Amino acid sequence: EKVELQKLVDEPSKTMDGVTVELAANIGTPDDLSGVKSNGAEAIGLYRTEFLYMGRNELPTEEEQYEAYSEVLKEMDGKPVVVRTLDIGGDKELPYLDLPNEMNPFLGFRAIRMTLDNQELFRTQLRALLRASQHGDLKIMFPMIATIDEFNRAKALLIEEKDKLVEEGEKVKEDIEVGIMIEIPSAAIIADQFAEVVDFFSIGTNDLIQYTMAADRMNESVSYLYQPYHPALLRLIKMVIDAAHKEGKWAGMCGEMAGDAHAIPLLLGLGLDEFSMSASSVLKARKQISGLKKTDMERLAARAVECKDTDEVLALVEEYVGRV
Ligand code: PEP
Ligand code: MG
Repeated sequence: EKVELQKLVDEPSKTMDGVTVELAANIGTPDDLSGVKSNGAEAIGLYRTEFLYMGRNELPTEEEQYEAYSEVLKEMDGKPVVVRTLDIGGDKELPYLDLPNEMNPFLGFRAIRMTLDNQELFRTQLRALLRASQHGDLKIMFPMIATIDEFNRAKALLIEEKDKLVEEGEKVKEDIEVGIMIEIPSAAIIADQFAEVVDFFSIGTNDLIQYTMAADRMNESVSYLYQPYHPALLRLIKMVIDAAHKEGKWAGMCGEMAGDAHAIPLLLGLGLDEFSMSASSVLKARKQISGLKKTDMERLAARAVECKDTDEVLALVEEYVGRV
């Protein structure tokens, strides 16, 4: 089976009826790039930059970050690279930052909430990204966005830093796409309004599921509620994809769900444009997609969002694509 999958490394990701989607990989460090290539990922859909900040005693400098981002962009040789700005807090701590101890860290001071409040730290990362942009197809993504105001404030800082760099004579790519993660229900619910101001969405289901079901993604005793195929989730995902398309924007997914064989038929049917997963899942996903018809999956998805629970959805998936 491995040999058979390996043949798909340089193939496009295309359904039986000729619809192409993008299969991308999630990475944490430049060291992950070899896996990205050997598994034939067409892009980086999520570069989790927090690893640059973790396991050390001080913030990474602009230069260190510039090196890391540039390396990834160069290695990807013009293929899209979505870099997510620092997503710390919640389950991920930084001892040297002295973040508050919180009763509900997952509902607390994390990601964009923290970086908007620590502007020097945020501006340094944005500058490193902007300078690296000349080396490839960089897209910048903000995590944990709940309101349009947060996006506007983050984007304004990005534009300020860009203008400064240009004034200093630095080369910065002109048309960098700027998007957001959809991992908070409020953002999904007003996705139509976000779609007017962002360039793309990437749905972060790892968090979107926990916030939609109000079930901590690390808590075993409520893990029964952590249901990726629940119709409530599927409806939110549909809203996000439809909103993006209505404004001519693209919608991707970088949560675990994007590489899940039960979810892929549903996501294809809902119209997802980009699937970003661990590199080791890419070839399997490409093979699965090559055996599906988009038109059939659209019918499956239309029925799935009307289901009443996860079991009904899974039974429907089986009816359309057989046992996964
Ligand atoms: C997500 O929430 O789905 C996601 C991709 O981000 P992380 O897993 O890093 O929180
Ligand atoms: Mg997340």
